[in-house]
Amino acid sequence: MSADVLAMARQQLGIAAKYLDLDPGLHEVLSRPKRQLSVNFPVVMDNGEVQVFEGFRVQHNGTRGPTKGGIRYHHDVDLDETTALAMWMTWKCAVANLPYGGAKGGVRVDVKKLSIRELEKLTRRFATEINIVIGERGDIPAPDIGTNGRVMSWIMDTISMQAGYTTPGVVTGKPIELGGSEGRVEATGRGCVVAMEEAARAMGMNLQGAKIVVQGFGNVGSVAAKIAEDRGAVIVGVSDAQGGIYNPNGLPIHQLYAKCSGRDGHLSEYKDCETVSNQELLELPCDVLIPSAISQQLTKENADKVQARLIIEGANGPTTPEADDIFSDKGILVVPDILANAGGVIVSYFEWVQDLQNFFWNESEVNNKLDVHMRRSYADVESIMHQFKTNMRMAAMIIAVKRVSEATITRGIFP
Ligand code: GLU
Repeated sequence: MSADVLAMARQQLGIAAKYLDLDPGLHEVLSRPKRQLSVNFPVVMDNGEVQVFEGFRVQHNGTRGPTKGGIRYHHDVDLDETTALAMWMTWKCAVANLPYGGAKGGVRVDVKKLSIRELEKLTRRFATEINIVIGERGDIPAPDIGTNGRVMSWIMDTISMQAGYTTPGVVTGKPIELGGSEGRVEATGRGCVVAMEEAARAMGMNLQGAKIVVQGFGNVGSVAAKIAEDRGAVIVGVSDAQGGIYNPNGLPIHQLYAKCSGRDGHLSEYKDCETVSNQELLELPCDVLIPSAISQQLTKENADKVQARLIIEGANGPTTPEADDIFSDKGILVVPDILANAGGVIVSYFEWVQDLQNFFWNESEVNNKLDVHMRRSYADVESIMHQFKTNMRMAAMIIAVKRVSEATITRGIFP
């Protein structure tokens, strides 16, 4: 599966390289990660047994600045998947025109099986192991699937204890009281809604009363659903790892958010709905589909059955290249991950800037800056899409690959 994700990321790069007539040497540089660190580390579990975990930090490309990207705790994490995700971070930062390259990290673990104490020990030991490659000027982690502000606090504290002074800028997505930014928790979901508004405008779709299905009720999906509901859309289907719920008249998202967006609640506890599998959810009648769970959910097997007219990729890599072609043929607009979910890393950038300058902005300043940044990135991609007569993913890739390769040429290859 993960080798497929890396192949998929490379295939997308290959197509963009053709559009840009990219130099083969540069193409080779961009298709490989700059640095990959694999670590195996022990944790003493609550029952006294020692368990060894496998973790990674991959830096794909740092030409435009320090590398940036989340840390994922998930049982499917491996080196190839982490590499693909690092590559997507390079493109995402470039599309959003942030002065960053891309990185990603992860630990192969089923986080639900850990106690809080075990989670803290695993995090502190992993942070220590990757300390040789991360840092506030070099590579800055953030939350991703299975991690959150609390995990970021432990990483920040671990690195600070080893440095001998507090280094808030070493990770983003921290709680506000430790140098986190207002608006960071909601940023990815909020950015998805901005991308949806821009796409709806271009398609002439009215979002008031539009029916939306959201796959995944983690930090991205739950917030996107909540903000979309606030703005007048009707959320008819949502799901978590256990499965989905559907009500064509709409689901009470604020109520579900209060109960189910934490570590323990499950959507299946809600009764005024039909239950559906995660796969069935993707095929429900709706105007907009927001896949916000894991990669490779929309494939050649189900793409034909998708009823939405607009897809906003809250997750990284939810659509395979074959499904992309089917959506293009059917006239379904796919706003790609590297644009649609860039809100998270955009506000991570704001958080890092605030940490480095020790001067903080209020929530509306952050949200306004995010809004401007997202709409500008969307407009950049839209204009390349028209210019190259391609789909939106390729347009975003073209911008990203062009920005990174031009930076490489301008810097020159050392020595
Ligand atoms: N993990 C998020 C992503 O995939 C955020 C990364 C960051 O903020 O650095 O975009």
